[in-house]
Amino acid sequence: MSPWAREFRTLGLLLAFAASIGGWLGQLPWALCIALGGRLTWHLWQLRRFELWLGGRGRRPVDERMDLWAEVTGEVLRIKRRSQKRKRRLSAILKQFLRSTAALPDGTVVLSPESRIVWFNQAAQRLLGLRSPHDNGQWVANLIRMPAFIRYLEGGVYDEAIEIFSPHAPDVLLSLQIVPYGADQRLLVVRDISRERRLDRVRKDFVANASHELRTPLTVLSGYVEMLIEEAQDDRSGWLMPLTEMRAQAARMEQLLADLLLLSRLDETTGAAKTERVDLSGLLTRCCAEAARVAAGKLVIRSDIPEGLSIRGVEGELRSVFDNLLSNAVKYTPSGGTVTLAARRATEGLLLVEVADTGIGIAAEHLPRLTERFYRVDGGRGRDQGGTGLGLAIVKHALQRHEAQLVIHSQPGVGSRFECRFPAHRVTILEAAAGQSSS
Ligand code: ADP
Repeated sequence: MSPWAREFRTLGLLLAFAASIGGWLGQLPWALCIALGGRLTWHLWQLRRFELWLGGRGRRPVDERMDLWAEVTGEVLRIKRRSQKRKRRLSAILKQFLRSTAALPDGTVVLSPESRIVWFNQAAQRLLGLRSPHDNGQWVANLIRMPAFIRYLEGGVYDEAIEIFSPHAPDVLLSLQIVPYGADQRLLVVRDISRERRLDRVRKDFVANASHELRTPLTVLSGYVEMLIEEAQDDRSGWLMPLTEMRAQAARMEQLLADLLLLSRLDETTGAAKTERVDLSGLLTRCCAEAARVAAGKLVIRSDIPEGLSIRGVEGELRSVFDNLLSNAVKYTPSGGTVTLAARRATEGLLLVEVADTGIGIAAEHLPRLTERFYRVDGGRGRDQGGTGLGLAIVKHALQRHEAQLVIHSQPGVGSRFECRFPAHRVTILEAAAGQSSS
């Protein structure tokens, strides 16, 4: 029988008993009132026991007769047990998660929306010198006081990581990245990149030193080859051809070493290029004349360069940008084609310097990788043309140092356009010459 049916049966029996006693005594209403009051009092007493038990202050009200209160208590007990089980499972998962994040080699700091430290792992303690629990709740910028970090934290743009020296160990270089998640929460991920940077430095030094060391023996060899060529001019020994080829290969190696050295110099000088004023109109005109000399009448070389253009930067680096772009344009444009060098002002004061050609062009799939070191669209042909595969890497690097961008448009069989976009604050145009505003 269900507890409700039992309750109704009990109530019915009680009322029937009260009615018969009340009828016998002639006090029927009173007898019914007393019976109902008694039952109500019993329920109130059960409710009180139930309340005490729920609050953890009393024993569980067990009723062997399986009445309504026993049923309610049993149901609450089942819910309680289920939630305890879930709690235990969740706390086990949480412990597991905390153990795994604690074991991560990268530091992890959970930040509140107000940039206060909520939690951090052992790696963060080691890398940033944080102390648990002392630093919990502290404003993170109080503990990592580097201006670069504070700017990054407050800037709100977290697409890239920043690099700073550890506030705890000044010889440890750290990469810090903030990762937003959830409702305005942020995760600060800290990585020790000292070893990576050291290896990078070793690699760069090795390339620079090897290129430097190879230069002298190569110059000596080239000198002897040159002498031997002169001697072989008149004799019929057949050495002239191999020696001429040796001279060409030595020249290619010299160019390769020069490019490697230039790249490692560009690598070494971090940050924006210093701001000496370079006469850009004059520089472009000279580069154009050199391209015309190399083209030797096989191509039409056009230029559209306004007078009075100047730019803040390093002349040597800018020269290698335009020399490389023009020599590529000349190399990869068949006879009869046109190479154009033009400079013009664009929106927002940008200065565009373009090198366009009507040459063989480049398929779209190669464009994203074109500025990688030694990347060639057609390895064999690039080499045959005397290319080192480093030209566009140098261009990209040198432009970056001038806060400029390289944009490449190309279509196979139609031609290519290499656009250098210089920011307005580096450019000056003399009013009289350009008839435009200057910055
Ligand atoms: P390389 O010394 O081989 O020319 P670069 O780094 O200057 O090396 O150029 C990389 C590759 O991009 C070249 O091998 C060539 O395939 C392609 N390339 C560069 N400029 C042009 C151009 N103007 N027209 C067609 N292909 C080009």
